[in-house]
Amino acid sequence: MFTGTALSLDIKTVEEYLDVKTVREASTDIGGKMDTEVAIIGAGPVGMAAAAFLHRAGIAVRVFEANPDRAGQSRATTIHPRTLELFDSIPDERGSLAARMVAAGNPVPATHFAALPNRLDYRGLDTSFPFVLLLPQPETERLLAEYLAGQGVVVEPRWKLAGLTQDEQGVTIVSETGDTRRAGYVIGADGAHSATRHALGLGFPGTPASTMGFLADVKLERPPAQPHNWDCERGSYSALPLPGGIYRIFGHEPGDTGLTPEEAARRQAQIPDEAELRATLNRLADDDFGLTEVIWASRTGDATRHAEQYRVGRVFLAGDAAHVHLPAGGQGLNVGVQDAANLAWKLAAEVRGRAPRRIIDGPQSYDAERRPIAARLAANTLAQAALMVTFTPGGKALRDLMSDLIGRNGDTADELRGWLSGLDVSYAEDGSLAGRRVPNLPLADGRTLHRALRPDRCTLVVFGTTVAEGENVVRSTRDWHDLAAVLVRPDGYAAEVWTPGEEIKAR
Ligand SMILES: Cc1cc2nc3c(=O)[nH]c(=O)nc-3n(C[C@H](O)[C@H](O)[C@H](O)COP(=O)(O)OP(=O)(O)OC[C@H]3O[C@@H](n4cnc5c(N)ncnc54)[C@H](O)[C@@H]3O)c2cc1C
Repeated sequence: MFTGTALSLDIKTVEEYLDVKTVREASTDIGGKMDTEVAIIGAGPVGMAAAAFLHRAGIAVRVFEANPDRAGQSRATTIHPRTLELFDSIPDERGSLAARMVAAGNPVPATHFAALPNRLDYRGLDTSFPFVLLLPQPETERLLAEYLAGQGVVVEPRWKLAGLTQDEQGVTIVSETGDTRRAGYVIGADGAHSATRHALGLGFPGTPASTMGFLADVKLERPPAQPHNWDCERGSYSALPLPGGIYRIFGHEPGDTGLTPEEAARRQAQIPDEAELRATLNRLADDDFGLTEVIWASRTGDATRHAEQYRVGRVFLAGDAAHVHLPAGGQGLNVGVQDAANLAWKLAAEVRGRAPRRIIDGPQSYDAERRPIAARLAANTLAQAALMVTFTPGGKALRDLMSDLIGRNGDTADELRGWLSGLDVSYAEDGSLAGRRVPNLPLADGRTLHRALRPDRCTLVVFGTTVAEGENVVRSTRDWHDLAAVLVRPDGYAAEVWTPGEEIKAR
């Protein structure tokens, strides 16, 4: 239903705004002195997502990976709706990379906060992906790697960054074997112990681990009746179904808490084997749930840190290189992919020399928008850690209270759902609409907005009777906040909004 009224639309002005004019196609001519326009250090999920978004935006990109064999590192299992929306903007023969992930994973309707019994139901969310996708990280990485290979994006294996230097024209990266490469810009997506971050001399302030839980992907003959179980005396255990009849089990015993950093480091090195996992489950539940096979096991701590800057000159940090925290609520990979999407279009514009100042080092820069998100992520996961491992009567009372609030499905549930799903993450100031995610609006041409977004330029969405034509203009058949038009960034957030009657011109 249209409610927007006629609007005078000066499309020329809009196309000039944020410089949405057609840009030249993918450049392979990057001048004899450069090996690539953007070098990405690390072929984890964040590095590969950044490579995919940048390549889509027509930027020559090359990925350097120290360890060519990441198989067996199960780690993240959870993909949230906002991440799927971002992957939905990457087309492939199945429709999109997101469609491929959904086909490979296990969509479930709800997720947990702090392993509380009452869960956050995603079914009513305004998204094409109103569910949590359980997909082991190696699968996510395989699909990303296949996509990049199909696009001809080179991932150089066994290339470990040892150092870098930068000047006004670019960055020289050096491997541990002394091999050097030259790039216009570098993204360090090389994980928690990031060599890029070290080379930049950036601090990684935060708090060390004080808890160290168990975590494993196993086969269970008779999984527990409830996914999340918590006992003040014994501790906690959870079991979540992954594809292929596998369960992700995780939990804490009271002895795993209140550790010194040295104790935490010692405990982290003690990877539990099948016998120990059985013994742990028996201590926690008087049952090993018919555990027959351990596919992968690890320990997880609550060390929480984030880099003091996300950009130094021509070098950026993204994903675990920029922030680490307890993997609670499945957020690390998701927030990292969202870093990559936020950075890619801005960096693409900068590489092409058409980025306005405000997205380079102003209020809409990558650093300005994403570092506050890491601060929220840190607070959110520390709060979950407190709820998960405070094995006292007070801790139990707090869990009961929070679980009850979530179960009421009111503001608390909405707030947590909006954050965990990624859908309410916003860069808006003072409650304005500019900076908010724009939902997947249905378009008059039969497409939906997220698949219509361009990777390298903004898209103007008009509502109602506004008359507009142009390559970068689409018409929505659904209202959004009674607006006449919204200029949508490549990462799906509103850049500018216009109300009915307002003249569209650059501000
Ligand atoms: C036990 C565990 C469980 C987790 N569970 C979840 C979960 O359920 N949900 C969730 O969202 N997140 C989870 N996480 C977090 C998630 O795995 C990470 O957030 C995610 O892997 C981050 O991706 P990344 O690409 O930033 O870094 P990484 O995945 O660490 O990838 C970094 C890459 O850089 C490479 N590299 C490192 N140094 C160099 C160098 N010097 N030169 C070149 N390459 C280099 C590495 O080999 C690696 O391939 C978990 C993490 C752990 C440890």
